[in-house]
Amino acid sequence: MEQRERPVVETRVAVVGAGYAGLTAALELTDAGVDTVVLEASDRVGGRTLSELRPSGVRVDHGGQWVGPTQHRLRALAARFGCATFPTWETGRHLEVWHDGTRVGYAGAAPATGPGIPEYERITALLDRLAGTVDVDSPWQTPRFAEFDGHSAEGFFRSETGDEDALRRLALAVQGVWCAEPSEISLFHVLFYIASAGGYEQLMETRDCAQDSRFTEGADGPARAVAAALGDRVRLGVPVRAIRQCAAGVELSTDRGLVRAERAVLAVPPTAVHRIAFDPVLPAARRGWIGHSPMGRVAKVHAVYRRPFWRAAGSSGIATLYGDHPVGVVFDNSPEDGRHGVLVAFVYGDRLTRWAALDPDARRASVLAALVAAAGPEAAEPDDYTEKVWPQQEWTTGGYECFVTPGGWTGHGRQGWREPVGRLHWAGTETASVWNGYIDGAVSSGERAAAEVAEALAARAVAAPGPAAPGIMSSRHEQHR
Ligand SMILES: Cc1cc2nc3c(=O)[nH]c(=O)nc-3n(C[C@H](O)[C@H](O)[C@H](O)COP(=O)(O)OP(=O)(O)OC[C@H]3O[C@@H](n4cnc5c(N)ncnc54)[C@H](O)[C@@H]3O)c2cc1C
Repeated sequence: MEQRERPVVETRVAVVGAGYAGLTAALELTDAGVDTVVLEASDRVGGRTLSELRPSGVRVDHGGQWVGPTQHRLRALAARFGCATFPTWETGRHLEVWHDGTRVGYAGAAPATGPGIPEYERITALLDRLAGTVDVDSPWQTPRFAEFDGHSAEGFFRSETGDEDALRRLALAVQGVWCAEPSEISLFHVLFYIASAGGYEQLMETRDCAQDSRFTEGADGPARAVAAALGDRVRLGVPVRAIRQCAAGVELSTDRGLVRAERAVLAVPPTAVHRIAFDPVLPAARRGWIGHSPMGRVAKVHAVYRRPFWRAAGSSGIATLYGDHPVGVVFDNSPEDGRHGVLVAFVYGDRLTRWAALDPDARRASVLAALVAAAGPEAAEPDDYTEKVWPQQEWTTGGYECFVTPGGWTGHGRQGWREPVGRLHWAGTETASVWNGYIDGAVSSGERAAAEVAEALAARAVAAPGPAAPGIMSSRHEQHR
């Protein structure tokens, strides 16, 4: 590679992105004695997790927040760094606010009766059955792979039922899980994702499922702890703009100079890969995959109150809203000690697009109206109110994750999903087989990518003896339980 008048950092492995995937990859490699540098574009670690201590003393999670009991990789990482969790608040009766204003309270995980429920339950049971056929490690081996991937979720739902209320429920479920509309997402991706989580209920429910617990010190606590352990190996404010591969290694161009390494791990979502210039250009399959992987659209809004007033009325604060409200779902996001009351509202999919276009006062008024519908009149006057609109975040451009549009898996999945390209390895939750889209998937993807790199470095060391990376050669396989 030619010499240039720019600062040059030499390392064995360069990791791009200091979210959970990149930090885990770097931790694994560093544990194994491999010299590694992490390059992060923004001024903080944690990526799509971000906790903030508000002036009231309440810590809010603007991004990823929940951890479930089968999310073993994240739980192990948190345990290693002593990061505690507590159960999600779920006291009292939940509420459905129907599109015609009807309010239906219910106890337990899901309402037993209501408009569209029989058809909704039949179709979600069918989704679960079909998800049971998915091969999460080699999705293209799944029976009826191309057939499922040729349909959108919307097309499938409408082919199954004409019950508009069931369709409303299914649409809200897709918006809530993928922050997208059913017309945008591949049916196969929906099935893959359900399989990857261990079942539909795992995605949807709170207790013993994905929404089971929260981190006492915020969901980016384990990420901050990993970064502290890695020390000055993590470089913040260093966007990677271009990556060049040659016979000798990889050269990453950043705003602060060049980084030369033997291998690189790209631990960024597909939408961020798209912004990096590659020389040589990425293979067509990888580019095709990226083109079929848009980011979901979500905002989280927190309203902080002096006390969790809804509990006195027997309400859990958990509500699902259909119709014109910008908000799809509300949760009780109060801190563990319960000294304040916090409601979090999720705005997603097309509702987010419409709501984000409003001016700040109109946005606030419409969310507070939804919170009043969900929790009662006291919700109109929070002591503190804060929004995080993820599509406006420069390096993330949305959330919770990139989903796959119809035809993406069949057209480009086999070579484009996570197969290394020369010296480039892919991490990030979008490349996970287990808990794809979740923090846990980001962690396991970092472990997998680190194992790939260690194997490649060791193979080279055999060919030309030098430092090897024995510690992670027994590459851990992703597992649910
Ligand atoms: C609102 C919201 C709610 C969510 N809720 C949950 C939840 O409750 N539970 C759960 O498990 N998951 C949840 N998720 C998803 C979860 O947060 C993500 O799956 C996970 O954090 C992704 O981690 P990652 O490391 O794969 O990617 P990221 O966290 O996106 O990390 C990628 C990093 O790369 C950096 N980067 C991008 N481009 C470049 C570049 N060119 N050069 C250098 N650095 C770059 C970015 O700044 C970022 O820090 C939620 C996400 C959002 C947004």
